Amino acid sequence: MILYISLFYLNREKSIKYGALLFGITNLWINKMVKLRFLGACREVGRSGILIESEESGDRILLDYGIKSDHTTIFPEHVSGRDLSAIVLSHSHIDHCGGIPLFYISGSVPLYCTELTYKVSEILLNDMLRINQQYLPFGRREIKKMHQYVQYLSYKKHKKIGKNSWITLYNAGHIPGSAMILVEMDGKRILYTGDFNLIQTQLLNPVNLSEIPPIDALIIESTYGLTSHPAREETEDELVSKVNEIVSNGGIALIPAFGVARSQEILMVLNKHNHIDYKITVDGMARAIISQYSNYPSMFRNFEELIHAFKSAHIINQYRKKIERSNAASNSGVIIAPSGMLKGGTARYYAENIINDPKNAIFLVSYQVENTPGQILLDTNKYQLNEHEKMIDIVAKVFHLDFSSHSGQTELLQFIDGIKFINQNQRDVFCVHGDEETLLGFAKEVENHGCNVYCPYINQKYSL
Ligand SMILES: [Zn+2]
Ligand SMILES: [Zn+2]
Repeated sequence: MILYISLFYLNREKSIKYGALLFGITNLWINKMVKLRFLGACREVGRSGILIESEESGDRILLDYGIKSDHTTIFPEHVSGRDLSAIVLSHSHIDHCGGIPLFYISGSVPLYCTELTYKVSEILLNDMLRINQQYLPFGRREIKKMHQYVQYLSYKKHKKIGKNSWITLYNAGHIPGSAMILVEMDGKRILYTGDFNLIQTQLLNPVNLSEIPPIDALIIESTYGLTSHPAREETEDELVSKVNEIVSNGGIALIPAFGVARSQEILMVLNKHNHIDYKITVDGMARAIISQYSNYPSMFRNFEELIHAFKSAHIINQYRKKIERSNAASNSGVIIAPSGMLKGGTARYYAENIINDPKNAIFLVSYQVENTPGQILLDTNKYQLNEHEKMIDIVAKVFHLDFSSHSGQTELLQFIDGIKFINQNQRDVFCVHGDEETLLGFAKEVENHGCNVYCPYINQKYSL
């Protein structure tokens, strides 16, 4: 049974009082409950954070604590590190791990995740500091301190992390190291999907539903709750044939891609189908990430192919980067470089060098957030060289291909239908990590699949 404890928050102060009052009343007649409190990623994508608390044992487990970066950095609702029994991290994307160092300014809470998730998180957190140092309330000291408190978990290992709480991680198929988190607290089982993919990619096996035991409640990401992705093989074929066409005509194919997972995925796709002989140059963080990936072969669907793909590419040498970048930007071939939305990184350097030649093309292979240079380029064929300069028309071709690492609507519903609930008449589903319109539309679909659906507002609490 779900008790809906707090109401929609129009006024924060009033709502806190109202929530507390209701909470007091419910406690008079219901005792020893497991409580869920949603701290972020509520009707939005970014700053994931969920608190699960036991009234019986006092265990308090925090699942993810990410940030949202727009013009400023926003964190999830505050929780005190002193009161936490543990933090469990689903994966290394900054919208899931970006706020965790906050708990090590003065705290000492244990952090659980896969080893690969931790190693990549460290790289991304340090990179975030390098770019945003003056805007963040923590520094390298806190990231170093966090290392003292991390405990690595393998998939499918049952681990006690509180007086009466256990967790188990399952492969989420989203990025290497990513996990779904099963929390067992006071006899209740709650599954938090984090970000997940039910489709096999070149890098990863998909989620295996049969591994997961029956649950009481599901917290599910809803990023693509209203969108269905095209068949993966079709997308791969389209990329390969278009890239071949560009390069055969003497052009340059620039593929802006994030250095974590997406660069490696695209490299594997091109390597698998590479019928014509062209040079592939890889720039950015992808090198540091692959050196971490190399230590965890069992996390990959086909590790040998990944290494082979990487060895056949040319990785920009940091000591000769100026000359090597200039060569790549002036000779026919493929360039894979961050960032995926052309917001920053070396992709901008390459884009600026190739946009005035109709033989060249830019392949956007990630989701393009509203008002990013990538999205503007797609919609208008215009590009802004510098912040205060005018938009210019470009003559190079622009393509958008959907290589998402998230499940689309079909797979999200397939997952909900496939997961077993302990009480099939009481299938409680909480939708998070989707913009409001998507989330509400998706919630209707989930309801049609026979579930009780909840779309939490920020700081909203529920009891199980
Ligand atoms: Zn993610
Ligand atoms: Zn996410």
